[in-house]
Amino acid sequence: MHRRMFCRTAVSAAVAAVIPGCGPDRQPAADVGTLIPAVTGDGREISIESAAVTELAGGLDGRLYTQADEGYTAAKRVWNGMFDNKRPAMVVRCGSVDDVVDAVTFARERELLVSVKCGGHSLPGKSTSDGGLMIDLSQMHSVDVDTDTMTMRADGGALLGHLDDAATAHNALTTTGIVSHTGVGGFSLGGGMGRTDRKMGLAVDNVLAATVVTAGGEVVRASEQENAELFWGLRGGGGNFGVVSEFVYRLHPFDPIVYGGDLVYGADQAFLEFYAELHATLPDEANVEPSFTVGEDGSPEALVEVVWCGDRAAGERALAPMLAFPGFKRGELAPFAYRDIQTRSDGVMAHGGQYYLKSGYLRELTPEAIDVIVDFVRRGGPASSWFQHLGGATSRVAADATAYAHRDVAFNFGIMYGGSDPAQNEAGIAAVREFYAAMAPHMAGFYTNLNDESERKTWGNYGENYPRLVKVKNRYDPTNLFRLNANIKPTV
Ligand SMILES: Cc1cc2nc3c(=O)[nH]c(=O)nc-3n(C[C@H](O)[C@H](O)[C@H](O)COP(=O)(O)OP(=O)(O)OC[C@H]3O[C@@H](n4cnc5c(N)ncnc54)[C@H](O)[C@@H]3O)c2cc1C
Repeated sequence: MHRRMFCRTAVSAAVAAVIPGCGPDRQPAADVGTLIPAVTGDGREISIESAAVTELAGGLDGRLYTQADEGYTAAKRVWNGMFDNKRPAMVVRCGSVDDVVDAVTFARERELLVSVKCGGHSLPGKSTSDGGLMIDLSQMHSVDVDTDTMTMRADGGALLGHLDDAATAHNALTTTGIVSHTGVGGFSLGGGMGRTDRKMGLAVDNVLAATVVTAGGEVVRASEQENAELFWGLRGGGGNFGVVSEFVYRLHPFDPIVYGGDLVYGADQAFLEFYAELHATLPDEANVEPSFTVGEDGSPEALVEVVWCGDRAAGERALAPMLAFPGFKRGELAPFAYRDIQTRSDGVMAHGGQYYLKSGYLRELTPEAIDVIVDFVRRGGPASSWFQHLGGATSRVAADATAYAHRDVAFNFGIMYGGSDPAQNEAGIAAVREFYAAMAPHMAGFYTNLNDESERKTWGNYGENYPRLVKVKNRYDPTNLFRLNANIKPTV
């Protein structure tokens, strides 16, 4: 008999105590008869019998942590240290799809508040909670490349670095983000921007199929051919419809030695006007992203990261105006390993820091928006800002082709505070909010993976795709089990 089945029998709680690798001797669990306090999705405080938790733990391929267990603090940790104080009632660290089904079923039967953690990089801390059940996918991270079909299969708990490593080893790539310890789950379900999205599309444009554990505990496949509405909703609708245990991505041929570098300019009107004109003329191979910093002489500078993924001679020609611009201060363009740039921010964006971020899309970089940026960058302070260069392939997809609707924008503009001392958070958050309030009139919606906004703003942000998303939600998660996300409210 399979260990999982055996552990589920009525006597399992008692017998499991003497079965290696099954239940209490495999991991400590709360005493039989005690009650574990927890919280439901709608905020009610409830108690769960520890025997039920022990039974769930005993059947897992992975491991379950309650607050009483050694390892709980590490297991419940998420990337943003601002949420270190959150204490889920339990963490189910899944080792298999069956574990995900068990965790979802356990939570649904008790109406528990559920969070889903892949890389744990939700800026607003959506992958943790107080009193809920955390479904932790971090141990499910295998990735396989199929060069015959040019596809890559990744477990739902993999990190972006796992994808980059696996794909570039075969001179192939799919779009991933700029920090390699970010999770594939949130990234691929919310949008997925990166240094190659103008050439290869967003992550949502490269997901070919997904395996999903729905709120009902069913394991379903979603693709253009199977459960097509779910597939549509997954690509932009975030974690609203279930737990994705596996993604399949399209791979593109890719030379892992790319061309580019960091170029420095004064962070002034003239540079931003130049950038506003230049970005629109650049081919899809070019990803040109200024971020703002203070130079050694104390003057504000634009540090422009340039990545060209294509023929080098064509890149030299296309990017020549950047070197010729009179405000160019220093830097050079040269060949380099793509993998190096994909990991270079891993340390700056380390786990455990205190982070707060607001962002918004820009259809164009208008003179009014430039005024705001120059003003705030000149003033300095704890909020940093940067552009994510969009357009290209990301804009050649219809707004209703996937749930991700923002196809007509040229940039995402991010404003962030990052620190290490919680005592500084208030000032950092205030600085971000002030900058964002000034930019908001020039923005056209926001990236749900970065901003945590009111329900109304979130729904409006999906535009005409929202009613269709509600239908998918009604079908796959009618009780809103998966609500810690940019939430779509079911109406059934
Ligand atoms: C340092 C850093 C760098 C970033 N860089 C980029 C970037 O370059 N480009 C970009 O587009 N975004 C970027 N982001 C934003 C990023 O896309 C989101 O934070 C995303 O949610 C992170 O995914 P995760 O799986 O690590 O998050 P988690 O916190 O683990 O999950 C976030 C949410 O996603 C859902 N979710 C996660 N995994 C699953 C799953 N397998 N099944 C179902 N639901 C799931 C859940 O609703 C969960 O609450 C970055 C964020 C950080 C912190």
